[in-house]
Amino acid sequence: MKRVLVTGGAGFIGSHLCERLLDAGNEVLCVDNFYTGTRQNVAHLLPNPMFELLRHDVTFPLFVEIDEIYNLACPASPIHYQFDPVQTTKTSVHGAINMLGLAKRRRAKIFQASTSEVYGDPTVHPQPEEYWGNVNPIGIRSCYDEGKRCAETLFFDYNRQHRLRVKVARIFNTYGPRMHPNDGRVVSNFIMQALRGEDITLYGDGLQTRSFCYVDDLVEAILRLMNNTADEVTGPINIGNPGEFTMKALAETVVRLTGARSKLIHLPLPSDDPKQRQPDITKARAILGWEPTIALEQGLEKTIGYFDGLMKAGLA
Ligand code: NAD
Ligand code: UDP
Repeated sequence: MKRVLVTGGAGFIGSHLCERLLDAGNEVLCVDNFYTGTRQNVAHLLPNPMFELLRHDVTFPLFVEIDEIYNLACPASPIHYQFDPVQTTKTSVHGAINMLGLAKRRRAKIFQASTSEVYGDPTVHPQPEEYWGNVNPIGIRSCYDEGKRCAETLFFDYNRQHRLRVKVARIFNTYGPRMHPNDGRVVSNFIMQALRGEDITLYGDGLQTRSFCYVDDLVEAILRLMNNTADEVTGPINIGNPGEFTMKALAETVVRLTGARSKLIHLPLPSDDPKQRQPDITKARAILGWEPTIALEQGLEKTIGYFDGLMKAGLA
């Protein structure tokens, strides 16, 4: 039995990860400052004696006795990470330093939730791990993109300098139950708008693309990366679903699946919005024997069911 720390464990992805770690017989310490995550996301885990929830901000040091760390703490949706950009960079950078320091003291293996945003508005398509990216260092997305890039730097310097066992995954757009209904991300926005019978807001011409991975597929890949016994497998490794869609096609699919009568309307494109994004998952296939199994429509149906349930319960 391992004692596993999950930072950002009360968030969307973190809550699913905590569940899987408990199912595998681990003791789980979930640390979160509830900036975007909620107690509700992990309420069903609280009765489990192997689960512990601690309110803590990772920009401050943490002294706990653990064997493994999954570092997920960081707001992930543009409206949330742009609300307090300085805190976003601090969470990524100071948070990484604190968690790496803890891992070093404990000689613990540590996972970092990095992001496809390290590629910025990519000029190489699809994006392989070797691509260094096209990131604006001073734009409105930079607090997140550069924060996550600096965190990657820290992970690899701790690996080289202190021989720390690190595992870095570059996560592409992920969706599913327990996303925040008001996080402004495209999947949650379109579904909530459709369920409320509101217009669907396409930013720009709606022809920009993203590749959407269902959360269960993502968590499976994270666990395979962490449990890969070849500890020299540090990543960075792309995790995502290569199925690529325009935002217009996504909107049309959501309207069809919900049976909504919503119209598609166009709003201005936010600055630095990447035009295209698709993971090259050759490495994940070869090293982890992993590939996504849940098609977009199947995952959207589960997610629509979740948001519909929240609305009926008066929680959204
Ligand atoms: P989320 O906002 O639901 O989860 C982030 C969690 O971190 C929340 O529970 C939040 O309260 C917590 N948090 C934020 N700042 C903190 C701090 N200073 N101290 C402690 N806790 C803090 O987002 P998510 O989609 O679950 O993302 C989880 C991780 O995965 C993030 O690191 C994100 O950057 C990364 N990621 C997510 C996606 C995606 O599409 N969902 C894509 C790429 C990377
Ligand atoms: N988007 C949109 N309408 C919305 C929300 C988002 O057209 O109501 C677009 C956004 O401009 C971007 C894409 O959807 O091109 C994905 O946005 P999201 O915020 O989900 O993630 P990210 O841009 O970080 O990949």
